[in-house]
Amino acid sequence: MKVLVIGGGAREHALCRSLSLDPDVTALYCAPGNAGIAEVAELHPVDALDGDAVARLATELGAELVVVGPEAPLVAGVADAVRAAGIPCFGPSGEAAQLEGSKAFAKDVMAGAGVPTARSYVCTTPAEIDEALDAFGAPYVVKDDGLAAGKGVVVTDDLAAARDHALSCDRVVIEEFLDGPEVSLFAITDGTTVLPLQPAQDFKRALDGDEGPNTGGMGAYSPLPWADPKLVDEVLESVLQPTVDELRRRGTPFSGLLYAGLAITSRGVRVIEFNARFGDPETQVVLARLRTPLAGVLLASANGTLDVLPPLTWRDDAAVTVVIASHNYPDTPRTGDPIDGLADVAAQDAPDAYVLHAGTRAEGGAVLSAGGRVLSVTATGKDLAAARERAYTALGRIRLDDSQHRTDIALKAAGG
Ligand code: AMP
Repeated sequence: MKVLVIGGGAREHALCRSLSLDPDVTALYCAPGNAGIAEVAELHPVDALDGDAVARLATELGAELVVVGPEAPLVAGVADAVRAAGIPCFGPSGEAAQLEGSKAFAKDVMAGAGVPTARSYVCTTPAEIDEALDAFGAPYVVKDDGLAAGKGVVVTDDLAAARDHALSCDRVVIEEFLDGPEVSLFAITDGTTVLPLQPAQDFKRALDGDEGPNTGGMGAYSPLPWADPKLVDEVLESVLQPTVDELRRRGTPFSGLLYAGLAITSRGVRVIEFNARFGDPETQVVLARLRTPLAGVLLASANGTLDVLPPLTWRDDAAVTVVIASHNYPDTPRTGDPIDGLADVAAQDAPDAYVLHAGTRAEGGAVLSAGGRVLSVTATGKDLAAARERAYTALGRIRLDDSQHRTDIALKAAGG
């Protein structure tokens, strides 16, 4: 199978790594990719938001499956353009991707499906904003109603800050605060059948101890030793399947990756948000544990044949990933710095630990930082403590001036 992956972050590197290890994959392409992905896939420059350009490239390459990684191309309808060109595509239509693209749409689908989530108001005027903030009280949860790469959400006890953020949005969702640990659960679906993957937890705040600003994600681990073993079945029944059924009923069937961001509250599981694609950095740890070759699973989603796919199998290993981010991420990340030590990790830590690239580019034999999140150091081990140790050992070999990373990824879950 010839596969084209769209995107260029650590998530796409994780997808490409798994696909490159799949014996069914005979050729692997990525557009636009990054310096790390170039080691496992042939890179092609393309505007990932231009559906016609992606479809043209896929046709030229003879791709038999296109996998769209990030949310923006999905919301822009890239999967529709690929399918219109007659090529199977992993990823939802632009309409169905509104589940992520519009928080208000997601809330409406959840209401229709009877899926448990935070009570919320959609506000467009200052009066509505004040009323909603007053109704819920602190801590305030204020969400820009649009794509913001996980950074449009403000959770604060400070009423003035909550109000300022709300007033800066065209349309804003203000909602009840959900207490309790968060879980990311991914499911692969073809619009009818839903196949949950293993749960993971990510770390959204920039600094240790969950301090600092929200980011795209600074690390993740899987499995969750503290979670109820029935969690996945429960979420499949109360959240994933009803959501997929509701979207089909509305005439916007959702195929691809349905990502449920969940809060395990004292009153039960609640959906914080849905995403329409693999999450970064959770993908790095979930795919590190998946034993089933990936291409056939993604193709079955694209072709609507998940019902006849054998059950997924998983490695017993635990996985941890730690993100290395640029100086000043997430505000104004500095780029263009040289990255050293990548070859040391490959020589000394593989295959138990490896580096997935996010914002990197190759220049004259060197690898340079090219984004906010730069690398995702991923490791497996017999348990979280072992995986954690390997990840941080590998991370210690990497040099990127003034970079930042969290030191407490999976620390509590590993019993530390
Ligand atoms: P979102 O973009 O909706 O995932 O929100 C980003 C982050 O904000 C989440 O991962 C949570 O940590 C936090 N958050 C969002 N909604 C809520 C809520 N209702 N209660 C508490 N925390 C929330």
